[in-house]
Amino acid sequence: MEYKSTRSKHAPVPSSEAIIRGIAGDGGLYIPCCIPSMSSIIDMLPGLEYKKLAAMILQKFLSDLSTKDIFRCVESAYDDKFDTPEIAPVVEAGGFNFLELYHGPTLAFKDMALSILPYLMKSSAEKQQMKNEIVILTATSGDTGKAALQGFSGVKGTRIIVFYPENGVSRIQKAQMVTQNGDNTFVAGVKGNFDDTQSAVKFLLTDETMGKKLKEHNYIFSSANSINIGRLIPQIVYYFYGYGKLLSKGKIKSGEKINIAVPTGNFGNILAAHYAKSMGLPVNKLICASNENNVLFDFFKLGTYNKNRPLIKTSSPSMDILVSSNLERLIYEVSEQNEELISSMMNNLNSNGVYNITEDMKDRLSGFYGGYAVESEAFKNIGQLYKETGYVMDTHTSVAYTVCKKYKDETGDSTSTLIASTASPFKFTRSVCRALNLPVEGKSDFELINTLSQNTNLPVPEALYDIDKKPIVHKTVIDKENIKSAVSNFLRI
Ligand SMILES: *Cc1c(COP(=O)(O)O)cnc(C)c1O
Repeated sequence: MEYKSTRSKHAPVPSSEAIIRGIAGDGGLYIPCCIPSMSSIIDMLPGLEYKKLAAMILQKFLSDLSTKDIFRCVESAYDDKFDTPEIAPVVEAGGFNFLELYHGPTLAFKDMALSILPYLMKSSAEKQQMKNEIVILTATSGDTGKAALQGFSGVKGTRIIVFYPENGVSRIQKAQMVTQNGDNTFVAGVKGNFDDTQSAVKFLLTDETMGKKLKEHNYIFSSANSINIGRLIPQIVYYFYGYGKLLSKGKIKSGEKINIAVPTGNFGNILAAHYAKSMGLPVNKLICASNENNVLFDFFKLGTYNKNRPLIKTSSPSMDILVSSNLERLIYEVSEQNEELISSMMNNLNSNGVYNITEDMKDRLSGFYGGYAVESEAFKNIGQLYKETGYVMDTHTSVAYTVCKKYKDETGDSTSTLIASTASPFKFTRSVCRALNLPVEGKSDFELINTLSQNTNLPVPEALYDIDKKPIVHKTVIDKENIKSAVSNFLRI
């Protein structure tokens, strides 16, 4: 299996190189040269434990790592740092099936990939006989940052740098990041939004002068964002796993198609679902759910991607994104691998904030349904679902749930649906408590952890014990123009 860029016909690279680089030298994203079929394992899914399934899928994509290496990575990642032995349980509520992806150490689905990425990166570095220290450069909309810090903190031969939008993450997300220990970590708030932060980071990853300076000091950049295929591939696993759970619970018959709904920001998680479908997972519709930042809804409806609009701060901050990086991989695919066209579209996006796809490309997107939820709908549904079933969703998951309900009403499609449940409600206590009509006045987000727990009988996740009492290690806040110099300072180059 080799990987090539979406923007040029440069020679493909092996997976170990794609993982270490994170992004192609031409600014494009790496995509697998072919998608392996896994349809033969569908019937086996109910009997496969998460680790075994992960190893089987990773092996297909990371073919230059040895089977032994992959097993070691999987064993180290999916252990008891997840608070349930199933790793990704499926829970039914309100007629939908929630694939709970937030049982890892940082309480969001980002743990599913970021608890294995450091191991994949180390194995890849060994494979490439790399002597350089790997510097992970990360922009976060709230959850990637902590999950990446957790994964890379203290890992020899790596450093991890995280930039988050200073006023664009929840109090609890911020506390998780700024209290992170580890000599190899650096965290800074940026006066700007996620899009500003992500574009600065993407630019820096392929900046030639920076690249030279790094090399002189024996460093190399990589990315922990979902632009890195090492993030994306482990995310394919849980869609197969979720399908297996539906089979073993008797909710579907083998081969029966399901819908998958994903609360979407950077388009990474739903792209992994699309890859699962391409590999033979029986999927009818992929339901792409946005919050009020509904660029993707417009895109699926009109075939025009237009980020020229104000970014709206919502109660699902990890989806407050106007430039969904991974969409580039999908439009490359539906352009029938037309690198020139994708390059020109991405240039348009950079300079004018907009691009149009062709009618043919749009026709090939019929497997997707785009929808969005406004704040009042997402809030109302958290309260309503709880009242009806006792199930508590976080704000992001509620966006997907809301869109699923709208989709069902609109189309009458009654296909069994798996909703990617992306974060623990305890990460967004103020919003969730408000939605549940619990008193929030005069209480901090941290105090509301107990309020939420006491009123819903859900246990407080261990990761949040005393989160407000931990010393703040990272106090830096910078202007977005200073991201490059902050990196240089931390690395002393
Ligand atoms: C990152 C994140 C998302 C969006 O996922 P993408 O892969 O960026 O589309 C949704 N919900 C939560 C809780 C997240 O942390």
